[in-house]
Amino acid sequence: MAVLVVGSIAFDTVETPFGEAKDELGGSAIYFSYAASLFCPTRLVGVVGSDFSASHLEELSRRGIDTRGVEVVEGGETFRWSGRYGYDLNDRTTLSTELNVFSDFHPKLPDKYRDSEYVFLANIDPELQLEVLAQMERPRLVACDTMNLWIETKRDALVRLLGQVDIVVFNDAEARQLTGEYSFVKAARSLHQMGCRAVVIKKGEHGCLLFTPEGHFAAPAYPLEDVFDPTGAGDSFAGGFMGYLAMRGAGVDDEALRRAVVFGSAVASFTVEEFGVRRIKEITVEDVQRRVEEFTHICSF
Ligand code: AMP
Repeated sequence: MAVLVVGSIAFDTVETPFGEAKDELGGSAIYFSYAASLFCPTRLVGVVGSDFSASHLEELSRRGIDTRGVEVVEGGETFRWSGRYGYDLNDRTTLSTELNVFSDFHPKLPDKYRDSEYVFLANIDPELQLEVLAQMERPRLVACDTMNLWIETKRDALVRLLGQVDIVVFNDAEARQLTGEYSFVKAARSLHQMGCRAVVIKKGEHGCLLFTPEGHFAAPAYPLEDVFDPTGAGDSFAGGFMGYLAMRGAGVDDEALRRAVVFGSAVASFTVEEFGVRRIKEITVEDVQRRVEEFTHICSF
């Protein structure tokens, strides 16, 4: 079954204690697409300028990513983001955000995308996320992400959106900021009450929590010897998570969600081994499967 993603497509400039990369292909929808397409057909919706080369689009297509939903604004410039990480890789400083063509973006779904069963609304304005849902026929499973900016400036739209999604995939700070609860148990309960059946809380190198009405599940992050660039880990997690659910044709049953969390964590662990999408681009589903098996050993006692 196909998964549809809408989100940012970017050129990122990133500094970490281990090196720098300039104008690297990135953006939430790109990381998600490379991750999800390991498991299932992936449909990408986003916007780029004429500085986005045809070879980038061809490379995405070669990976089985459908790019008919990528709008190219002639004469426009692609969204650019730049950030810096210190030794605590969970702590990132945004140095600049140039919205460019992203500032006037209104997602337009190609007709062929409307029947997508699985939908991931990556971090964009919640009003745009709602616009996407209004164009869908009857998705089986919808998940979303957000960021501090929208929690501060578009809270009402975000709360409206949460009433229409099945799963939220937030990081720890977002879950706390939106609900005003420090305890993740209470934050998850509050998000359940807003309408989301499953709540995934990402905690960077400390792993990930899943809360459903049936119970809790915790997965560690895969213990890597070297982390190079954590950019896109959250979106790659979401891509692995949703891609796995779509591959299985699963709904929001606990057993599938737990396995999806482990698959998401395994995929994200590859992304952070290199700048941008360099590493995730070269892996196969068998590589992911091997790490998933290691998770079984790490977690059993
Ligand atoms: P993550 O590390 O998973 O939080 O996502 C990193 C990606 O988010 C980068 O590739 C950026 O291009 C993208 N990004 C940064 N700021 C924004 C924003 N305001 N809206 C959408 N995407 C963004």
